[in-house]
Amino acid sequence: MTTKLNIQPGIMGVKPYVGGVSKIEGNANAIKLSSNENPLGPSPKAIAAYQAEAGHLHRYPSESHAGLRELIAATYKLDVDRILMGCGSDEIISFLCRAFAGEGDEVLYTEHGFGMYQISARLSGATPVSVPEKNRVTDVDALLGACTENTRLIFLANPNNPTGTMTPDAEIARLADNMPEGCLLVLDGAYADFVYGFDGGAGFVEARDNVVMTRTFSKIFGLGGLRIGWGYGPKDVMEVLSRLRGPFNVSSAALVTAKAALEDTEYTEHCRAENEKWRGWLAAELEKIGLPSDPSFANFILIRFKDEEEALAANAHMNENGLIVRMVANYNLPHAMRITIGDEQSCRQVVAALTEFKAG
Ligand SMILES: *Cc1c(COP(=O)(O)O)cnc(C)c1O
Repeated sequence: MTTKLNIQPGIMGVKPYVGGVSKIEGNANAIKLSSNENPLGPSPKAIAAYQAEAGHLHRYPSESHAGLRELIAATYKLDVDRILMGCGSDEIISFLCRAFAGEGDEVLYTEHGFGMYQISARLSGATPVSVPEKNRVTDVDALLGACTENTRLIFLANPNNPTGTMTPDAEIARLADNMPEGCLLVLDGAYADFVYGFDGGAGFVEARDNVVMTRTFSKIFGLGGLRIGWGYGPKDVMEVLSRLRGPFNVSSAALVTAKAALEDTEYTEHCRAENEKWRGWLAAELEKIGLPSDPSFANFILIRFKDEEEALAANAHMNENGLIVRMVANYNLPHAMRITIGDEQSCRQVVAALTEFKAG
């Protein structure tokens, strides 16, 4: 090395994000249930829109994202001017940290909260603070107790990943009412579309000046590979965030495909119904063989084993049977296993493999 590198604070403290395993050595037909992807894939209309875009790839994408933002605004009844598109909702999370949390500032997230909160906080030089949950549910008293005069952001996924549980509206209101001034509450609605009649936190954004919502096309819309998500918040907050955005942060393919996916409400409805059906079935079948889980509101369940040893043995057995699931020891849940709700056949295979495992 010839130069002394001037590395910015926080960067070397980051442990890289570990995504879901996607392959099993020697098994080309493994079923991946480790990243909460839509087992049915995106809408066929979205795929067609993506393919139609192929002839225009020499063109730069829209800078304003106007067409898609208007559709999002109309679909969810929001103010189009306060919608910000990102390269995945991960990018909105990182904008929030860069904009509002630097050295000496604290970013709170719940004990079993999504890994990107901690990473983004560190990358912006801030201090991530993990706050205990109560039986895998957000503990608002603990969050409020952890607030200091340096707290700038509180991240809360609702439904939460990897627990699948939800924080009741009244508790969210209590948190937003009592957190310190100058602190923003970020409601991550990555799984909001799986919950019937749920606005993902939009109502809180409309009613307050200290709540931001993030959403994604990666989950129910089945577009994780395209990288597109969005944020919604108070005008002054969104004006700050939009300054961090590169003009072409979302590709033209992502814009047209997301638009077609959002328009195909019938397909989304079908995905929501299938998820609900097989999630209920899977949880009930696993409960019968001694593998409990909390009622999940998302497209996965988190089953609990006796201890870490049993969880690891079960995971090995799943792999032998061509099933890839997510171990969540790094989310402080070493005795648990997160299983994405697959299609009918995948769910049946999961039950068969775990039944065999339990029978020893
Ligand atoms: C999957 C997920 C996201 C989505 O991230 P993208 O960058 O939009 O793909 C965000 N938050 C949580 C809690 C998630 O599980």
